[in-house]
Amino acid sequence: MPSQGRRTAPLPKGWARIRTRILKRDRWVCQWPVLTGGICGEPANQVDHKNNAAQGFDDHSDENLWALCQWHHDKKTGREASAVAHARPPRARPAEAHPGLLP
Ligand SMILES: [Zn+2]
Repeated sequence: MPSQGRRTAPLPKGWARIRTRILKRDRWVCQWPVLTGGICGEPANQVDHKNNAAQGFDDHSDENLWALCQWHHDKKTGREASAVAHARPPRARPAEAHPGLLP
């Protein structure tokens, strides 16, 4: 898996299974609340700790985990300096090569 950002707390045993369970619970949809109300709604492929494990908070309970899209996960991971107040821009996901376009 590519960059997970700075993470100092180890992930628990069985994280892969926990991660899949949370993604299924949240229906693979980003749960990040947006200013307009509701949630981001983009496809989620990240499971994040609401209370950051990097701060020594190692609550891996379902209540502390939620599914996020890559964009919001990156945003949260790097948000020390800037608040994540603004809504995500449209189509901000990194471009993925379409299989049909590969040589
Ligand atoms: Zn999102």
